Amino acid sequence: MKVIIIGAGLAGLTYGALAAKDGHEVIIIDKNSKPGGVVALLEHEGYKFEQGPLLIGDMLEGEPVYEFLKTLGITLKTMRADRDNSFPDFKILRPEKYEGPYWRRDYLAKLFPEDKKGLDKYYKYYDDVLRLRYLTTLPQTIVTKIRTGLAFLKVKKYMKMNADELTKHFFTNEKLRTVFTAILADFCADPTEVNGLFTVFTNLETAFDLRIPLTKKGKKYYPGFCFIEGGVQKLPEALAAFITSHGGKFIYNTIVDKVLIENGRAIGVKLNDNTTINGDYVIGVGAAKDFFSDLVGHEHLTEEYIKILDTMRPMEGVFMLHLGIDIDPLKYLRSSLIYCYGMYDLSAATYKLRNGIYHEGDDGYLLFVPSYHAPDFAPEGRHALTIYTVAPDTLKDANWESKQEEYAKKLIKLAEAHIPNLSKHIKVMKIMTPVDYRHFTHMKKSSFGGIVPIWNQKAPTHFTPVKNLLFLGQQSENAGGMGPVILGAKRAFEQTKFNK
Ligand SMILES: Cc1cc2nc3c(=O)[nH]c(=O)nc-3n(C[C@H](O)[C@H](O)[C@H](O)COP(=O)(O)OP(=O)(O)OC[C@H]3O[C@@H](n4cnc5c(N)ncnc54)[C@H](O)[C@@H]3O)c2cc1C
Repeated sequence: MKVIIIGAGLAGLTYGALAAKDGHEVIIIDKNSKPGGVVALLEHEGYKFEQGPLLIGDMLEGEPVYEFLKTLGITLKTMRADRDNSFPDFKILRPEKYEGPYWRRDYLAKLFPEDKKGLDKYYKYYDDVLRLRYLTTLPQTIVTKIRTGLAFLKVKKYMKMNADELTKHFFTNEKLRTVFTAILADFCADPTEVNGLFTVFTNLETAFDLRIPLTKKGKKYYPGFCFIEGGVQKLPEALAAFITSHGGKFIYNTIVDKVLIENGRAIGVKLNDNTTINGDYVIGVGAAKDFFSDLVGHEHLTEEYIKILDTMRPMEGVFMLHLGIDIDPLKYLRSSLIYCYGMYDLSAATYKLRNGIYHEGDDGYLLFVPSYHAPDFAPEGRHALTIYTVAPDTLKDANWESKQEEYAKKLIKLAEAHIPNLSKHIKVMKIMTPVDYRHFTHMKKSSFGGIVPIWNQKAPTHFTPVKNLLFLGQQSENAGGMGPVILGAKRAFEQTKFNK
């Protein structure tokens, strides 16, 4: 079969690698000049920066993406990673000396003594959820099914709660609740919209201390997070090399304008130079609404599919500063990644994001030092530092082009609370606004991670109403993320008809 893939991001590359491995003819077309989409490397005046993922899930040995890549002969060196958190009145930093897997519970109980009992109950619930998760990863024998059923009964009563209800159930103090919900601002989600379970999975304790063991009684139990040594771009580079070595072809610097459809079946694509390429299967990625309205055409879709497209809500954009600096930021930061929140009102923060009001960093931002896991990202004695924050794709009362310098200065000033005199140590700066992201990802509205994880919201399915046309990538997976995107593309490949 001839498979045409639009987009050399992780979704397209995963599908392409599997198709090429099975002997199909693979052609991948991307508007950029190298593979990776948002995980491609940004090179700027002697420095290198990552433009996308920070903490990567599912990629440590024994975890699903790692094991999948191994089947392709790809093994990347990873190092465990974690993140610190800072709030307006307190910080939650990984202790210098390891204090066990529940140090956050004990630390938070000191900060919020009125909620000590609630914290004990929450962590009991946390353990129950993770036990249930672990059981679902085991081969489902009758015994495991019974154990899974019993484990489910323990958490069942919480299953109907959203994140707001769940955190209010356990904690009285609004600031403590924000410790567990603040990450939702990244997803542009209000706590009332999100399943309570999401609170646990976005607050895995292993994300806050890389020393917490991932095993229990010798078995892999907790999910962990990592950086890829040498940079995340090593993953798309390895997948692209695999595809090429299996006969696949890449066409870069080229935009696909149209999916060609005949009698309800995808038969090829039209490129922006007006040439056409015929194929047996077409795989699309990117912004779902743009893809189906501009490249496919709603006349080829069902009402049900159009409804999903109309109701789905992609996340917002990011405003990012990549800095080359002549000091070591880790002299001041304990972890190479710190989330710095400036508010406790998540609903107000998401309202602003959705209504074109940029918070100018006041609601929060993060500091990330990629040269920690990829030392060659900066010249000897220097470091690469990225400061970024979620931001509306379109500003209500201004435009990104005219405001970017002012907003960059403001973010740097805020960051000086963590890295003193940062502005005096900047040697190189590259600003990326949501508009730059729009161009780079070929989206009309930039959206940085996927779909807002709204409870019960449907994502566009991989198999579309058009025969032999699949839709993959971050906007086909609720909440997006590297792991779900790769595993989603793998699942879609396995379910494609030519495999049955
Ligand atoms: C700032 C940021 C932070 C993130 N943080 C994390 C994190 O910490 N952990 C995590 O797991 N994930 C994170 N993610 C999410 C993760 O990186 C993405 O979900 C994933 O990489 C998306 O892969 P994709 O293939 O769906 O899309 P993309 O990477 O967007 O790739 C799509 C490619 O297709 C091209 N394309 C689209 N349409 C066309 C067309 N018509 N013609 C030609 N080319 C086209 C685009 O230009 C692009 O190159 C982050 C993402 C961003 C941006």
